[in-house]
Amino acid sequence: MIKVAVNGYGTIGKRVADVVAAQPDMEVIGVSKTKPSAEAYIANRRGYPLYIADLQNKPAFDRAGIEVAGDVEEMLKHADVVVDATPGGVGMKNKPLYQLLNLKAIWQGGEKHEVADFSFNASCNYADALNRQYARVVSCNTTGLCRIINAVDKAYGARKVRATMVRRGSDPGGIKKGPIDAVVLNPPTIPSHHGPDVQTVLPHIDIVTMAMIVPTTFMHMHVVHIDLEKAATREDILALIEEHPRMGLVRKGTGITSTAELKEYALDMGRPRADLWENAIYEESVSVVNDTELYLFQAIHQEADVVVENIDAIRALMGTVEDAAESIRMTNEALSFTAI
Ligand code: NAD
Repeated sequence: MIKVAVNGYGTIGKRVADVVAAQPDMEVIGVSKTKPSAEAYIANRRGYPLYIADLQNKPAFDRAGIEVAGDVEEMLKHADVVVDATPGGVGMKNKPLYQLLNLKAIWQGGEKHEVADFSFNASCNYADALNRQYARVVSCNTTGLCRIINAVDKAYGARKVRATMVRRGSDPGGIKKGPIDAVVLNPPTIPSHHGPDVQTVLPHIDIVTMAMIVPTTFMHMHVVHIDLEKAATREDILALIEEHPRMGLVRKGTGITSTAELKEYALDMGRPRADLWENAIYEESVSVVNDTELYLFQAIHQEADVVVENIDAIRALMGTVEDAAESIRMTNEALSFTAI
């Protein structure tokens, strides 16, 4: 069993912990928090040993009735690999500790590529991650872009990609972020950082991206345009999406034309926390114009799509499963992940 520590038990970390716990070949040896919180209570309830960044804060946890197993360094000493899911920028500060303990580490998209010098997406570059010491799982938006671009590029050649990201303002639990009543250009300049971030995984792709933030909490919506090298039909692209283990079609027959209805659908499917681990591509939107211009809308559940990628990154770094398809199959199967 691979012993996994989750440093930072927030939106991403709590999901990673649950998905690690569901795998047949891994176990959660601990999770960490800085302050007492609802998530810390849940860690106790789930039976994950809870470690804290600074032991001086233990009395606050004691007063809140939250059991503490020790400090983060203690947790890391028991681990084979750490998934760092602390807020963007904090992960880089944690790196010297991981180096000191000679511990394999996986960071999230809030960190720069340089934190690991290797950016990961299971569908694109799993083999290159085998037995590495470090990897960074790219952000939710970049993960969603990499999956569709790589699949289309492999089959038909992606001559150029142009994409617009309509981003959620906050995660559902976030009470301090906005906007409440605005569409915010983020950034107002073009291109946004998403294109270069895709190139950390797929360096040869010609991509320009634009982004804005809207007052919603569940999902980003991508407007994707890919110019193909080889002609394809709409049916070819639909088949490509259906065959992909991390992409799914939002069927015309469901009548779903929004993120809100998609969330309700995910809940009705019984997905934990309404999590959609896959790109949700609207079947009706998939269009090929002039044989080589592909257009589509895809919804990306920001809290969920990177979670399954972290699981594959663990297997790749540990070198326990050599084949990407096999790791993806194992991860998906442990979640009873059936197509949307
Ligand atoms: P979050 O704020 O929800 O959770 C971070 C957790 O880290 C909190 O529980 C906090 O208590 C803990 N923490 C803070 N400082 C710590 C420290 N020094 N040591 C240990 N724990 C500490 O953040 P998040 O949204 O889960 O984001 C984590 C990472 O994942 C970031 O890099 C972010 O960019 C990336 N990411 C976030 C999303 C998203 O939509 N939320 C999507 C993809 C990637």
